[in-house]
Amino acid sequence: MSSRLEQALRAELDEIAAAGLTRRRRLVTSPCGPRVMVDGREMLAFASNDYLGLASDPAVTAALAEGVRQWGAGSGASPLVSGHAVPHEALEARLAEFVGFPRALSFSTGYLANLAVVPTLAGRGTAVFADKLNHASLIDAVQLAKAQGADSHRYPHADMAALERQLAASDAPAKIIVTDAVFSMDGDLAPLPLLLALAERFDAWLVVDDAHGFGVLGPRGEGSLGHFGLAFHPRLILMGTLGKAAGVAGAFVAGSETVVEYLAQKARSYIFTTGAPPALAFALYRSVDLIATDGARRQRLLDRIGRLRDGLAGLPWPLLPSLTAIQPLLVGENQAVLDLSQALWERGLWVPAIRPPTVPKGMARLRISLSAAHSEADVDRLVAALQELA
Ligand SMILES: *Cc1c(COP(=O)(O)O)cnc(C)c1O
Repeated sequence: MSSRLEQALRAELDEIAAAGLTRRRRLVTSPCGPRVMVDGREMLAFASNDYLGLASDPAVTAALAEGVRQWGAGSGASPLVSGHAVPHEALEARLAEFVGFPRALSFSTGYLANLAVVPTLAGRGTAVFADKLNHASLIDAVQLAKAQGADSHRYPHADMAALERQLAASDAPAKIIVTDAVFSMDGDLAPLPLLLALAERFDAWLVVDDAHGFGVLGPRGEGSLGHFGLAFHPRLILMGTLGKAAGVAGAFVAGSETVVEYLAQKARSYIFTTGAPPALAFALYRSVDLIATDGARRQRLLDRIGRLRDGLAGLPWPLLPSLTAIQPLLVGENQAVLDLSQALWERGLWVPAIRPPTVPKGMARLRISLSAAHSEADVDRLVAALQELA
């Protein structure tokens, strides 16, 4: 007989199913790319965060294979024990140079990088100020900081006046503002120059999660800071992920020498986890190099974004204002967005429906994500299908 806990879990799963909120994983049977095989059928996908098409790029996959040949499969230990090798060191230096920060520390995933920053910097009495639409990993990071005695405040999305009031009202000895740079379900940008000005004025850190800006925005693809003409600043701590535009897996945190050294000494999600395979760092070096030196991919992505936005203007569903590869089409009700996603699926187009609790109630949407690997004809096919379904 199943335990009482198991019965409670089953009841909750049944409730999720009854509400139409069960999540299903599609089994992909081909490499990541605009065209993927799913259940034996070729789909045109607008569903990945592989914004530059680097996940299956021959130069990156060759580098990964070469990395395995030179460095084997695993790192063998956490970075502070013996899991930090030449490819990690080289990648960190390359990343720091590319984003223009004094130093960078590499992590196995963005989730772990976010868990490292705020909880490690926030001591007892530190006040943390977080945008309400921040990514789940930043929300969890704030929860961890709270467990260590930090106070937390959430401000309405991108509301600088509200944030300013919260900062002015706080007499905490240390303050941290934490924000997504590009909001992952909306595609809009945080007002980073205003946030940095507030950080200056109220003696706070500004922690920026640039998961969706790195590789995509800025004059060289260096990310959202570059988009705004911002560069390194001692109050800034930048997190970027390497499994999205960079096409592999991993993340980095960049900051001043002091901040990065402090994280390397103290961040639990850096210290108590096995170092990423050196081969991944080896491949990422190539990938970051391509991002930094070959602007053609980014240009292609920007072209596809413009083409999609032009094509979808005038549909009954508004596109949210977004300069990035994330182009959400606001549909509203859960069933309506599921039906639309399903109708596209039947036409061979894979565009995920995003529903509460990931987004607010009544704000369900299609999350169209574009890639430099999409052709103009791919974008036109999606536009035509949506026009027909409208
Ligand atoms: C994807 C994402 C992360 C997590 O990065 P992973 O490398 O996938 O763990 C963190 N923050 C934001 C905003 C993201 O979109």
